Order: sequence, then C-alpha cells, then structure tokens
Amino acid sequence: MVVKLQAITVNEWKGYKQRPFLIAGPCSAETEEQVMETARQIAALDQVSVFRAGIWKPRTRPNSFEGVGTEGLKWLRRVKQETGLMVATEVANEKHVYEALKYGIDMLWIGARTSVNPFTVQEISDALNGVDVMVLVKNPINPDLDLWTGAIERVARAGITRLGAIHRGFSAYEKTVYRNQPNWQLPIELRRRIPDLPIICDPSHISGSREYLYELSQKAMDLNFDGLMIESHINPDKALSDAAQQVTPNDLRELLSRLILRSPVASDPRLLDILGELRQQIDVFDDALVDILEKRMKIAETIGQYKKENNITILQTTRWDEIIRKVMVNGVAKGLSSEMIDTIFKAIHQESINHQMRVMNNGALSGKKTG
Ligand code: PEP
Ligand code: MN
Repeated sequence: MVVKLQAITVNEWKGYKQRPFLIAGPCSAETEEQVMETARQIAALDQVSVFRAGIWKPRTRPNSFEGVGTEGLKWLRRVKQETGLMVATEVANEKHVYEALKYGIDMLWIGARTSVNPFTVQEISDALNGVDVMVLVKNPINPDLDLWTGAIERVARAGITRLGAIHRGFSAYEKTVYRNQPNWQLPIELRRRIPDLPIICDPSHISGSREYLYELSQKAMDLNFDGLMIESHINPDKALSDAAQQVTPNDLRELLSRLILRSPVASDPRLLDILGELRQQIDVFDDALVDILEKRMKIAETIGQYKKENNITILQTTRWDEIIRKVMVNGVAKGLSSEMIDTIFKAIHQESINHQMRVMNNGALSGKKTG
C-alpha cells in the first residue's frame, strides 16, 4: 500500500539546517534555569534545529513527576527568543495544542501513548486544522504499522504538510537490552508506504540508557532516516524523568561527531546509495531471523523439559507432519520455493531435536530444578 498524502520532504521544511535534522533537549522541562542553560549549550553546538522539552509528561505510574505544565511554555518561548532555536513539545489533547500554539511553539509531537488512540489523534488533528506548525507522530507503543499510518493520515488530513514520523521503538513483554524494541522493519515499511514522509529516529526512548545511543543513531543514519531526536540535559543523573538515557550537550556533540553519514549525495540529501540501504534492510531482517530462531529453540527446550518430566518421546511424527504441511502451504502462497521451505524447516526441526535432547540428557533448563 502506498499512501498519497500532502507531506513534504524534510529539506523543504522552513528551518531545515542539515542532514540529520536534529532535535535535542531534555525529556522534561523542570526549571527555567535548567531549560535555559540546556538550550544555550545545545544552541552552541550549532547543529541542532529544534529544542525539545516535555511539559505535560505521560508517566507510567502516578506520583512521579508529571511535568511543569503551561508555565514551561513561557520558558520555551524564551529559548526561542534568546537562542534562535525552534522549539518543540508533546501534545496529548486539544487543550495542549491550543496552549502550545498560543506560545508560538514551532513543532508539536504526538507521543507513543497518544498515537495508539484514534479518538485522541482525531481530536488533536481537528485542533490543528488550518494551522502551519510542524507535527511529528511517534509510533504507537505497540508494533502496529496501520495504527501509526492512520495517525499520520489523520494529521495530514488537517492540512499539516511539515509532517513527519518519529520511530521510538515498541513495547514488548520480553525484556532485552533496549527499553523498547526497535523493530526496524516497521519504519522501513512506513518509508515504503509514504516515501516523502520524513522519519526521525528517537534513540533515547529505544535504548533507555545512554550506552546504546550511538549505535542506534548510526543505524538510523545507515537506514537513511532524515533526523534524530535525542534527549539532552545539563545534569542527566539528576533529571526528574528518563535520567538513565539523557546525555549532556557536550556528550551529544561527541556522539554527533562520531556519526558516519554514508548515503547522501551532495546535491540531494535524499538520493540514496540504493544498494547500501537495501543491504542494511537485509541485515535488519537477518538479525530478526536469528532472534526468532533463538526464541523458537528456547520453546523447544521448555517442551523438552516437559517431555522429560512426563516421559514422552521427543519425536512425534504426526505433529511434525502437521507443521511441515502448514508452513509449506503458507510459504508457497508467499512465493517461496517448496525446496527451500523443506530444507530450512528440516534444519530447524533437527536443531529443535538437538536442543530437546540436550535438555533430556543433561538435566534441567538453566535456572529450573530438575524434574
Ligand atoms: C518523550 O519524548 O519524552 C516521550 C514521552 O516519548 P514517548 O512518547 O516516545 O514515550
Ligand atoms: Mn523521555
């Protein structure tokens, strides 16, 4: 599905400085001094286009810092006047939109907990009708590309043309090193659906900690994302929200200096090294294949444990016949050859048996007591 909408490419945006289009600033505006000092240091980098700060904060649990509210809009207005940076904040309802526009905020973003809700996105879009402001739509917390696309379409229908998406990763029950799973294939597919739509990566909310910011930012650049949104605070460890993932403006400078920008061609930042980008996409899918195989083997081991405890044989031919028949029909319908399906699934099956054998013969799964 290719969606035709009004979005213009990021280098056509007023205020576009360079690739990557950079948005930086604290997770939350906390005090006027913290906002002004962070903004001065970020402005001094001379690379960032937009200063961000959340003033209405969607927090997971009550009794945590929920933002300074409207008062913070005055600080953002001051940032704009004194540093020349454009300013951005999160809006989660129509009142936020009206308040932010009253204070001349240049860019609004719709957060991940809001973009899941079509009622709220529509309410925000109605409030934006006929307004010339930049709007970025974060991916919903669940990996649902249609929901993300739908939210973007609602905002586009309100006439917003300086419109973009922010990839901030997806919530998952299983914990990995990242706070949110990148699932790179979703923003890649979004780019295919809406080719002109600028996509900004938010490595801060994907990683949840500073140590992965650089590798995620580099990956986003290699996948030809248009920009980055990175949380930066003058004193990250003392931040009232998302302390572990924020970096000082100085560390941000250092991170940016290490980024390798591979794809742009001098005269047109959107002309790609097509082959390079496609190979990056292949790498993403290969990584995902390995992750899935690892998960499948873990389940096989649990099954092995269960069979051991209940004295059941490892090989159950009818179950295996059923699996191979199902994947064959599914794979052939998707244009894959029956030879490949046969080879791959035989190998996967053999590997599963090996994992189960190991459990049966060598005792319990790690961390579980022997049955
Ligand atoms: C944010 O950018 O501060 C924020 C709350 O992000 P998200 O909606 O991605 O959680
Ligand atoms: Mn944050």
